[in-house]
Amino acid sequence: MSNQLDAIAPLREFVIEMTNLVSCESAEQDLIAKGSILLKTLIQSDSWLPEFCTIPHPEFYQQFLLHADPLGRFSVVSFVWGPGQKTPIHDHCIWGLIGMLRGMEQGQRYKRLSTGELVTDGPQTVLRQGDIESVSPTIGDIHVVSNAIPDKTSISIHVYGANIGAVKRHTYDPVTGMPKSFVSGYSSQQVPNLWDRSAEMRASLN
Ligand code: FE
Repeated sequence: MSNQLDAIAPLREFVIEMTNLVSCESAEQDLIAKGSILLKTLIQSDSWLPEFCTIPHPEFYQQFLLHADPLGRFSVVSFVWGPGQKTPIHDHCIWGLIGMLRGMEQGQRYKRLSTGELVTDGPQTVLRQGDIESVSPTIGDIHVVSNAIPDKTSISIHVYGANIGAVKRHTYDPVTGMPKSFVSGYSSQQVPNLWDRSAEMRASLN
């Protein structure tokens, strides 16, 4: 059910289906494959994303928590990129999916040599609206991401196999490859209310 009164319904459906998925599957490749199909459906429209999760910061890219599984099995985050904004080179230490909702994102993957140095892993890629990309320690986990549109906001929806804002992970010095630990946190204390289902119930009143 999706209408004006229940605009958030596609996100709620996604959260329900992801909860079912992480309850049935534990193999990373299955979570990535099946999660990608669910995420692809979610990003077909963007009218479900609450306004406060779309607002760029003048200086920093924003990470708005949309939902965290209470058992820490997955989280859903809205990444909002202002013009010119870019991550440091970083890793995730867990599987992750990136789905492009609005605008475009540019990415470059890296791998670490046994010496600790970083080298690029494949060509630079561009994610367009509707595209999905995945990362993980087994399929390649280090990258740098930036807004590919110079004068507009871009938004991507990310799903991770943990409460990503509280995961200890790393940024990397681009020259030496030296890792530095960080914990990203989230950009707001607010999360969307997925659970006001009164519109559905009222529609069934007679
Ligand atoms: Fe990333």
